[in-house]
Amino acid sequence: MSKDDCIFCKIANGEIPSATVYEDSICRVILDVNPANKGHALVIPKEHYDNIYSMDADTASKIFTIATEVAKAQKAELNPDGLNIVQNNGEVAGQTVFHFHMHVIPRYKGDNVNIKWLPEKPDSDELDALSKALRKRI
Ligand code: 5GP
Ligand code: ZN
Repeated sequence: MSKDDCIFCKIANGEIPSATVYEDSICRVILDVNPANKGHALVIPKEHYDNIYSMDADTASKIFTIATEVAKAQKAELNPDGLNIVQNNGEVAGQTVFHFHMHVIPRYKGDNVNIKWLPEKPDSDELDALSKALRKRI
């Protein structure tokens, strides 16, 4: 399924040109037009999924496998000091393009990328109860 009004459907399927670093029948990997850092890539499935919640396991596996390959290519070409994989779902989480995509962001010492949160401090009872509840759903 492709959405007529979705820019990533058009990019992933080649209707809009992009700086492509990889393509197969399932996905396309492009360089972000407004990168957080040099080499910032996006792994985009060709099928339209709004977000992670509608994605099947096979596609998810493929996306992560390709992200791993992209990370290794970035490492070989750009020699970053580290890497973040980021995947935003929902406006509250920072998603701005509502077609699933995975960010592969090389990190360099002293760069200006900031992916950090203030940690909460739940007690162990709360962690136990929540882990049991979630476990039942997987
Ligand atoms: P999100 O905030 O949804 O997780 O990430 C969307 C990303 O897509 C942003 O980093 C943004 O720069 C990138 N982006 C948005 N439109 C385009 C485009 O037309 N071409 C490319 N290459 N990247 C885009
Ligand atoms: Zn789409």
